[in-house]
Amino acid sequence: NKITIAIDGFSSTGKSTLAKQLAQQLGYIYVDTGAMYRAVAFFAMQNQYISIDSFNKVELVNHLKNISLEFKFNNELGFAEMYLNGQNVEKEIRTIEVSAYVSKVAEVSEVRSKLVEQQQEMGKNKGIVMDGRDIGTVVFPDAELKIFMTASAATRAQRRFDELVQKGDAVTYEEVLKNVEERDYIDTHRKDSPLVMAEDAVEIDNSHLSREEQFQVVLDLVNA
Ligand code: C5P
Repeated sequence: NKITIAIDGFSSTGKSTLAKQLAQQLGYIYVDTGAMYRAVAFFAMQNQYISIDSFNKVELVNHLKNISLEFKFNNELGFAEMYLNGQNVEKEIRTIEVSAYVSKVAEVSEVRSKLVEQQQEMGKNKGIVMDGRDIGTVVFPDAELKIFMTASAATRAQRRFDELVQKGDAVTYEEVLKNVEERDYIDTHRKDSPLVMAEDAVEIDNSHLSREEQFQVVLDLVNA
């Protein structure tokens, strides 16, 4: 019997790697909700609704109806890529600029309700692994399995830094750590659906767990 699996937690805890692996193993659909918030942030950036020193929420909200988000499965990569108004933005949404703006955009209630509605639609059939911040609490409060991933900010910043450097981004560890801490703060303090662990979630601190170990822990939970 297929189930709904909600994976929430702080940024760069390796949620998406785990969720992707799990979906592949179980033959489930994987949905990266962070990519959707990132695509909205990228749209806001492109249209200059947000910049380093300003954020025009009203304009963004007024133009939300012009945003169409779609996941398209890439057979070569083995996972779905994010399309914003028909354009593949998978690369664009992973930059440090988008990371710097995304939590501010995700604070806007109208943005959240639009995306939550779309996520609920995508997961209306069981057999889904969805990762984000509010999946077990807001999007699928009835999910059969809820995982909450944590790791220290320093561990997460180091992982993110290694990834960005490998991609050739010119960032410093300090910049990445600052971004991770800022996002944690905004994500846990916003009025609308702040990041909290669902009461019935299983917490996994992976500061000292390998990917294989984590995967086994979660697989055992699925089969329990
Ligand atoms: O998971 P990822 O780090 O790509 O998410 C980017 C940002 O999007 C998070 O820092 C958070 O501010 C926001 N987000 C959210 N709710 C979700 C998924 C992501 O607010 N379900």
